[in-house]
Amino acid sequence: MSEPITVTGMVLSASPVGDYDKRMVILTKERGKVTAFARGARKSTSPFLAIANPFVFGSFQLYEGRTAYTLAQGNIREYFTQLAAKQPGVYYGFYFLEIADYYGREGSTDVDMLNLLYVTMKALLKEQIPDRLVRTIFELKALVINGEYPRLFECVACGNTEKLTHISLGYSGCVCSECVNGIKDARPISATALYALQYIVCSPIEKLYTFTLKPEAVKETGKWMERYMDRYTDKRFKSLEILKIMES
Ligand SMILES: [Zn+2]
Repeated sequence: MSEPITVTGMVLSASPVGDYDKRMVILTKERGKVTAFARGARKSTSPFLAIANPFVFGSFQLYEGRTAYTLAQGNIREYFTQLAAKQPGVYYGFYFLEIADYYGREGSTDVDMLNLLYVTMKALLKEQIPDRLVRTIFELKALVINGEYPRLFECVACGNTEKLTHISLGYSGCVCSECVNGIKDARPISATALYALQYIVCSPIEKLYTFTLKPEAVKETGKWMERYMDRYTDKRFKSLEILKIMES
């Protein structure tokens, strides 16, 4: 076997295979989304017992195989084990991992997405920002990193950058007060909600979780992003369905 490579990443999922092994999906800075097998990880004496779990963040040494990697060693910086005690917070966490998995590609470099995941899990633990707002921030920033996101700084019909009073799902962006009548699905948006969404688009990742909103604005931005994700992603997220049940 050749020398192992070292990557920095977060475990997106870890599922049992065979009698004692686990199949991990890791989002890495250097190689994008990779699959790695942790041999014997389900044995109680395995050094991989604590490593081969979702949310685990650190550096991983991997042997490169023809179709997958094999875990050689892990140097863990953060296990995020406190997340498990948070209900329903932990399901927000699982949802963010699912989104990262949805957008992740093998072979790409994913520094921004990895940073976003890391600061988002930290924000979930801190409790200063409501989980619902953490979700909205994560969803919109994940879209921005992926390159396809709503136009929030000018009217989608005329390009006007002022009097942005409405927002359209179908046209994916803001509508000014002059163009409202021409766009059927334009709905009013409050100045606070629009400003918050604009901030999320422009803010550096490390400054994302430095604000909070009043409950009405959390709800308004949350509802809009929820409908947006529903329309523009073609996957049903399992953890989101669990969240819906828990919060209803
Ligand atoms: Zn306009």
